Amino acid sequence: MQTFSTRPFEPPVDPGVLRAQVRAFLAEHQPAGDAASRANSWAVADRTFTRALGKAGFIGMIWPKDYGGGGRHPLERYIVLEELLAAGAPVGMHWIADRQGGPLLLRYGTEAQRRDLLPRMAAGELYTCIGMSEPGSGSDLASVRTRGEREGDHWRISGQKVWTTNAHHAHYMIALVRTGERSQRQEGLTQFLIDLKSPGVAVRPIIDLVGGHDFNEVFLENVLVPDAMRVGEEGAGWRQVTAELSLERSGPERYLSSYALLLEFIRVCGDRPAPAAAELIGRLTAELWTLRHMSRSTAAKLAAGEDPALEAAIVKDLGNSFEQALPRMIQAISDVDLASDSAFARALALLLQIAPSFSLRGGTREILRGIIARGLGLR
Ligand SMILES: Cc1cc2nc3c(=O)[nH]c(=O)nc-3n(C[C@H](O)[C@H](O)[C@H](O)COP(=O)(O)OP(=O)(O)OC[C@H]3O[C@@H](n4cnc5c(N)ncnc54)[C@H](O)[C@@H]3O)c2cc1C
Repeated sequence: MQTFSTRPFEPPVDPGVLRAQVRAFLAEHQPAGDAASRANSWAVADRTFTRALGKAGFIGMIWPKDYGGGGRHPLERYIVLEELLAAGAPVGMHWIADRQGGPLLLRYGTEAQRRDLLPRMAAGELYTCIGMSEPGSGSDLASVRTRGEREGDHWRISGQKVWTTNAHHAHYMIALVRTGERSQRQEGLTQFLIDLKSPGVAVRPIIDLVGGHDFNEVFLENVLVPDAMRVGEEGAGWRQVTAELSLERSGPERYLSSYALLLEFIRVCGDRPAPAAAELIGRLTAELWTLRHMSRSTAAKLAAGEDPALEAAIVKDLGNSFEQALPRMIQAISDVDLASDSAFARALALLLQIAPSFSLRGGTREILRGIIARGLGLR
């Protein structure tokens, strides 16, 4: 059976040694910034930082060495991700390639795709984005209408994707495309790597509530994609996409998006926090610790070759609820003026505005709870 496990891998090194290596890397390469710039840092793209990270061997860590990866243990990768996110490092540029693009190619890609793309991804020089959602196709993903017609050794692809994070930085979009009959729904879908520089591709920005440009609309008009850039079998796209979701939903990014604010709150409270603040810090820390254990256990299952879709949905739902509630809970016991220019006020104001999106990206709360209910045997 094909899995996302990258076995065989080297035994893990001492976590303390690895953490010290990541912290030394961050001391040298992390851009200066305060809590506001460190919040939700897996959405912050920084090409220079990503290249340095690639050079240091912290991207594609668990991919085989033959493809430019590190052949490292998955739990070592977990430690590195945790350190990077806890420090608020700008990892958005390569995040999708490291988390999904590379593993997808290792599991379903051709040898030529792996040899061509994986070393550049691991070097922090080639980036991918996810082209699943379309206007009218979000939760009901099987309704995608972007259409691919076979023409000899190419596919002619037309349609529209939306909310495509980092399409303006990425080289390739991993697109879910309808190649079979419309009535077939899940059976008629195929994944392609679409070169975003191809004629017929237009990437248009969507500016979010806080004035940021993370996501885009991507228009595809008669884009010719070589069959060599099809990923996996024709018609197997749904199975592939749903398998990928366990990678997408269980990592530390699903509970650490507001962590920079918690650290700043602890700093602002000082050595002798008021009783209500001390209670809140204790409560949030205990919850964080539990989430961390759940997420790490799910990573261990992925490493063992299992497909923990149910566990991943639970981690994402609980993790998103935590990182979404954290800013509101801190606001409730602080008398901070949100219009003031302190790092604390700016981080809090930013997170209060963007936190609602945490439970939308990667599958909404209602959809996850449906998966959990079915996984628990409730029909
Ligand atoms: C920050 C961010 C980044 C994103 N990045 C990407 C990206 O890079 N690539 C990409 O492809 N997409 C991306 N998305 C899109 C995301 O995957 C979708 O927003 C999400 O799947 C929901 O789809 P929708 O917006 O169409 O909402 P809808 O599916 O229309 O849902 C609207 C509401 O109805 C509820 N609902 C829908 N169906 C049911 C049901 N059966 N039962 C109960 N309730 C239901 C939902 O839970 C939600 O509350 C991103 C979204 C965000 C917010």
